[in-house]
Amino acid sequence: MVVSTLEIIDTHAHLDDAKFAGDLDGVLSRAREAGVFRIICVGSDLTSSRHAVALAQEHEWIYAAVGVHPHDAAGVQPRTWDGLRLLASQERVVAWGEIGLDLHYNFSPPEKQEEVFRRQLEIAGELGLPVIIHDRDAHRETLEILKDYPGLPGVVFHCFSGDAGIAEECLARGYYFGIGGTLTYPKNGKLREVVRMLPLERIFLETDCPYLPPQPWRGKRNEPGYLPAVVDEISRVKGVSPEVVAGTTTMAAARFFRLVDHR
Ligand SMILES: [Zn+2]
Ligand SMILES: [Zn+2]
Repeated sequence: MVVSTLEIIDTHAHLDDAKFAGDLDGVLSRAREAGVFRIICVGSDLTSSRHAVALAQEHEWIYAAVGVHPHDAAGVQPRTWDGLRLLASQERVVAWGEIGLDLHYNFSPPEKQEEVFRRQLEIAGELGLPVIIHDRDAHRETLEILKDYPGLPGVVFHCFSGDAGIAEECLARGYYFGIGGTLTYPKNGKLREVVRMLPLERIFLETDCPYLPPQPWRGKRNEPGYLPAVVDEISRVKGVSPEVVAGTTTMAAARFFRLVDHR
């Protein structure tokens, strides 16, 4: 295998997922070979947030985000907040997420999703952590709610799925854009149009693994080692070299998440 010379950051991975339980060491070494030198492991409820923090404590190049996904909003209990706050006090935690609204699946009732989303935006603001937003079929609603929390240190829409108009609004507010495997899907001309207009320094690379693998691996489990396929597609869409895509997005993400470099 050719060892990549790129240095890229996977800003959104679910390494705690059961699909990685059997071969996480292999997944991590393939990530390093592909040039992924930082991974942010993102929680979706208290249990997975704990797992994310444990992984970050075990591997110095992995960081964690903690939070409750809109799918899991209905399962929140008073002790969830104490547990997450305690986790967030660990230095390996660099963001609060993923949080937001998912009006596509509505696994939790929309009112509950909003309540839990607002609660977490408040806590993140209090703790001074940037937030990782999950927005599925809820662009307008999400933007409306975020208006009430102007003091957040940073906002990234992970797996951005809005159109050019929504992107313009996010840009104007200083938000960032997580771009992953969906950019490589033949039918996703809308996202390629958005990426064409975005400044590279507002884009973060992400896999959202084990979900959303790039085109060559569709139907399979995604993993951080596939991230160069996203770099190549951004490079093609924007007409800049993969090295520029890697360098610019890495610098932007390291600054946003305040990643301490201890290489
Ligand atoms: Zn998500
Ligand atoms: Zn995710």
